[in-house]
Amino acid sequence: MKNINSKERSDSITLKGLIAAQSRMSANHPTVAILSSKQSMIEAGIGGEERVAEVLGRYKFPFKNNIFHDLSLCSDSYFQIDHLVKTPYYGVILETKNLAGSLEFRDNPPQLIQKREDGQIKYYESPVVQLERNIELFSAWLSERNIDLPLYGAIVLAYPKQHVEIPPADTKILFPNLVPPFIKSLPQQGKGLSASTFNWLSAELIRCHQTYIPKPICESYQIPIQDVQPGVRCISCGKIGMIKISRSWHCPVCKVNNHLAHEPTLAEWFLVVKRTITNRECREFLQINDKFTANRILQSMNFKSHGTYRNRTYFMDLRTIIRN
Ligand SMILES: [Zn+2]
Repeated sequence: MKNINSKERSDSITLKGLIAAQSRMSANHPTVAILSSKQSMIEAGIGGEERVAEVLGRYKFPFKNNIFHDLSLCSDSYFQIDHLVKTPYYGVILETKNLAGSLEFRDNPPQLIQKREDGQIKYYESPVVQLERNIELFSAWLSERNIDLPLYGAIVLAYPKQHVEIPPADTKILFPNLVPPFIKSLPQQGKGLSASTFNWLSAELIRCHQTYIPKPICESYQIPIQDVQPGVRCISCGKIGMIKISRSWHCPVCKVNNHLAHEPTLAEWFLVVKRTITNRECREFLQINDKFTANRILQSMNFKSHGTYRNRTYFMDLRTIIRN
């Protein structure tokens, strides 16, 4: 079984950004509640996908297969597949939903309506539409490579207490333990992919997988930069406000010194505030006065940069955050 490392998911970058942003905003800021509910949604989504991955991982299919989780590919546009089960005869795309309460799949207009136990009603984009779009885009991706593989899809409800009031008209809905029997029941028609094509396709999927880098939180939610509290975060106690001392940073709260404390704080800048940073922005965010110190710090981070010295901007490849 091939697994794309689930740590390299774009969701976990968004999650890190959401958590960092909330901790740098005042608790009564109007956007904090929105960020916090987005955070729980992503956590639930990751939890659901992990449950499905676990069921698939335990199951021994009686035929050759490769399973990919959280696959990000690009065809006409960028798309993300929760799970792809690939056999020589067909591919199965699974879209996982992890929502509590009772669910109604409306077809016209396509919508998913969630009625929670506390009476709250929420409206979502229909996973049927997401699934169909993914099947279409993946089918185009395969055609670009001259591969003819029938595709099937299903929506998996991963939350243990989900109840489907109205199912969608033409789409299969499964609970996690029903996924392996569903995959096994699909027809194996024609000659199927040759062993070499099958293996080539697996390698090609891994080669083309690219972690999507989400926009910084301030950009996504129109939060003014001045609403984000600057300062170096202490690696030991998590409090913001470490002070620059000679060759290190000092935390006035827990008294710890750490000479690399600016590194995760700069990563927070890119997750939360902006894709780029200048010397001035670095000084403001790290709360230091000296531009030579800021310059030394920016140079030491191996960021990509462009522009001449005075108006140089630096970028960070956020993928390195999740690899660490
Ligand atoms: Zn501290």
